[in-house]
Amino acid sequence: MLRAIEAGSSVTCRECGEPVKFRAKVRLQQVICNVYVKGVWERVEHYHAECYESAGQPHGEAAAPAPTPPRRAPAASADAPPEPTPAA
Ligand SMILES: [Zn+2]
Repeated sequence: MLRAIEAGSSVTCRECGEPVKFRAKVRLQQVICNVYVKGVWERVEHYHAECYESAGQPHGEAAAPAPTPPRRAPAASADAPPEPTPAA
């Protein structure tokens, strides 16, 4: 599944080997894959969202997080028209 990187996260991207780190200024996303072997959970793999895509999505398409109303960015203009369907 696709998740926002949480503060204090200290995992390594399986694709590029770089730490998947939380950065306050850049809202990065990570892909968290629960890996099942023979139907039994074995491990979790972490990827940068872009690395996961470049890797060919080895565990399938990353599921978007639960449909929650998107947070409005503070800089967003109040005059902006509402988006009927927020993009993933
Ligand atoms: Zn990466």
